[in-house]
Amino acid sequence: MEDSAHSPDIITARMAAVRTRMADAERRYGRLPGSVELLAISKHQPVEIIEDFVAAGVMAYGENYLQEALPKVAALAGRGITWHFTGALQSNKTQSVAQHFDWVHSVDRLKLAERLNAQRPLSLPPLNICIQIKVGDEAQKAGIALEQAAELAEAVAGLPRLSLRGLMVLPPPAGDFGLQRHYFRETRECFEDLKRRGLPLDTLSMGMSSDLEAAIAEGATLVRIGTALFGERPRKR
Ligand SMILES: *Cc1c(COP(=O)(O)O)cnc(C)c1O
Repeated sequence: MEDSAHSPDIITARMAAVRTRMADAERRYGRLPGSVELLAISKHQPVEIIEDFVAAGVMAYGENYLQEALPKVAALAGRGITWHFTGALQSNKTQSVAQHFDWVHSVDRLKLAERLNAQRPLSLPPLNICIQIKVGDEAQKAGIALEQAAELAEAVAGLPRLSLRGLMVLPPPAGDFGLQRHYFRETRECFEDLKRRGLPLDTLSMGMSSDLEAAIAEGATLVRIGTALFGERPRKR
């Protein structure tokens, strides 16, 4: 059985390892203990594996691919899970995202925000939004330039069916701790600038399995962890 790769012992051990890394980083960089939230990135993981992590107490999951996510959201309805959409968002996907998710981390243009605002069902609370920032000079597709973030943030903050919570960043891969911190610092400085402008932001979504320490050092309030919790991802389902 492949299930042995996710035996209760392995899940407990991986969870403990991630929690320990987070707690160590909080302590080392002067952050309040327990102030950084864990978002489990469950893309390409089947429902059964997510259920095991729910049983172990992980209640927030991020998904990147809408078609893959919707059956999981439906199968796990009523369990008190908070679902975050963390993948690239296209206009033709906004309606389902607005209906089935609690958070979107990847808003990088006003048109997407306006669609999500118009499509968020009135029966649900406002959709929580992070604006995705682009850092580094790699030819990344997603994210808005730092210099344009304030204008977008102020526009998004005015949309009543959305609740602007903060910023998200997915920097180019960097093995070097100093470079990792540099990208996260740029994002944190932008976050602080937006707060000085009066936007009530509380979420800095940054850090993954390979760079969560650098992100926590630079003020992350939420880290998005896939591999370190679930092991190597199955290729495609
Ligand atoms: C896949 C993914 C992650 C998790 O990456 P790991 O390196 O597996 O921890 C985090 N954020 C986003 C946006 C992702 O697509």
